[in-house]
Amino acid sequence: MEKSSVGFLIPFYFFLLGLIILFSLILLFQGIAGVGKEDNLTNTLFVTSGIMGLIVTFYMIRRYQVGVQKILKSRRMTVVTVEECLKCNYKNVRPFREGDFVYGQGEECPKCSKDPEKSSESRMLITAIYLDRGTQEEKP
Ligand SMILES: [Zn+2]
Repeated sequence: MEKSSVGFLIPFYFFLLGLIILFSLILLFQGIAGVGKEDNLTNTLFVTSGIMGLIVTFYMIRRYQVGVQKILKSRRMTVVTVEECLKCNYKNVRPFREGDFVYGQGEECPKCSKDPEKSSESRMLITAIYLDRGTQEEKP
């Protein structure tokens, strides 16, 4: 129940931010268009509040991004690499390391590397790299 209400609130939040941006821009252009005319105080006020509105909106977007990053961290999302041995079909799932790419070379196959004749060609093939939410378990 709570999750669905949050899902509804996020588009509303951005709709609100969009309105503030629009309103700030109108104020800003009204102020700039009026520069040089008699009522300078109102123009300065328009420009200032327009700029303030834009700063506040960007600050809010930035805060939202930081919040999303915190949620991702708290859910312990990790990138995992799936390696498969083409000879014995052994499959291994391990945390992603820099330099991993799909169809690249993975670690040595623990089964085939025991065989001294094959040991030079016992590297597994990386077949998948994906984001793991940390909820599902690989082992049966
Ligand atoms: Zn193998």
